[in-house]
Amino acid sequence: MAIRTIRTDNDPVLRKVAREVTVFDEKLEVLVEDMIETMHDADGVGLAAPQIGILKRVIVFDLYDDEGPMALINPRIVDQSGIQMEEEGCLSLPGRHGIVKRPLSVTVQFEDVDGESYEIVGEELLARVLCHEIDHLDGVLYIDKQIVVEEKAE
Ligand code: ZN
Repeated sequence: MAIRTIRTDNDPVLRKVAREVTVFDEKLEVLVEDMIETMHDADGVGLAAPQIGILKRVIVFDLYDDEGPMALINPRIVDQSGIQMEEEGCLSLPGRHGIVKRPLSVTVQFEDVDGESYEIVGEELLARVLCHEIDHLDGVLYIDKQIVVEEKAE
């Protein structure tokens, strides 16, 4: 396993659309392991492959609960409901935060590292993390969706 460099700010790779994974091999397993290690090293709750410069549709997350770290290959949102507006940050945009509107609940279909199909339902924080990381696969950053709150004049 290895900690990879997290791409930040205006790195053009963050704006590219990632390709679907079609080969489920040892290389994919290594990528997933490295992504989880990199996420943990940065104290993040989620990481998408483009953030380490790999344009593949792979995300990992860890809410540091009983579920443990999890990797989703080719994740796609198939259902969503409700609205939440909470503060979000991103490992690729250090030192920044913003309020983003997200669904309260999402259903995501994905493959695991062996290519088996699964479905996960995420609510509240997990819904937010899944939406945020899947956006990364399409070159979308939270600042694109951020709700600008104007400061009140003194
Ligand atoms: Zn992010």
